[in-house]
Amino acid sequence: MPFQIFEAEARTILSPVSGFLKEAGFTHSLTPSRNCTFGCSYCYVPTMRVQAGLRPDDWKHWGHWTTFKKNAAKLVARELRGAEIIYCSPLTDPYQPAEETAGLMRAILSAIVVAPRPPEAFVIQTRGPLILRDLDLLRLAAARTRLRVSFSITTDREDVRRIFEPHCAPIADRWRTLRELREAEIPVTATLAPILPCNPADLLAQAMEATSGVVVGDPFHVREVKRSGATTREPAQEICRRFGWDAWLDPAFHRHLLTTLQQQAKRSNREFAWGPPGFGLLAKPDAAPPENVR
Ligand code: SF4
Repeated sequence: MPFQIFEAEARTILSPVSGFLKEAGFTHSLTPSRNCTFGCSYCYVPTMRVQAGLRPDDWKHWGHWTTFKKNAAKLVARELRGAEIIYCSPLTDPYQPAEETAGLMRAILSAIVVAPRPPEAFVIQTRGPLILRDLDLLRLAAARTRLRVSFSITTDREDVRRIFEPHCAPIADRWRTLRELREAEIPVTATLAPILPCNPADLLAQAMEATSGVVVGDPFHVREVKRSGATTREPAQEICRRFGWDAWLDPAFHRHLLTTLQQQAKRSNREFAWGPPGFGLLAKPDAAPPENVR
């Protein structure tokens, strides 16, 4: 699907967080663009509508375009105070394909590298192999802040990936990216979120083989459990119903899935965590395991 790329000036770039991210221990989010051309069928962002600062056209046409905040790096330089624990990004993928020409993440990382008061922690959430372009700056930034890449792998089945997230990189490319980040000594975590139909034991085994430390996961967010706020959007729910994957929307199945994966990780002396305690570990790599991994 062809997508359009726009640019706009933003008034601010570091946003104080609330809800899930605050509970996880983050203080700010950094969102370099509005709308995300990966356009995943399950993306919770458009379900937030105006809460996410989106324009109605964005959430009605999710994935059709992106609007880069072209002054993002200047704002980062101006707004950093030195104590921020930043999640980049809850509302778009910082390494969506259009970043290749925009180069906004290079500018943002460069701003962090030379900042008089770099953030305390900077977590990059992405599924884009394009992040390998920035290995040089990631290394430099890691010397100035507690940097971590949280890299999304959602299933071990390429056929499933193509159905739910056809514009994202193939799973094999994503494992390769994760391994290259690790080989380059960039702190990296495999984030199995959302967990799509898969062989869960095989998916976790591959994640543990490709990384060290905690593996983070999250199932679909369904309204039955999550009474308000962002939730898995309708196209993914429709896919589950159409392909007979209804169980992957079932809270009881989610509980069983998460505890089974936790036990599997424990048998290998590893941690598997989810929800705010799990995502909180991304910013505090040396922290004690949260309640749900003890
Ligand atoms: S990559 Fe992330 S932000 Fe972008 S559409 Fe997919 S889930 Fe949403």
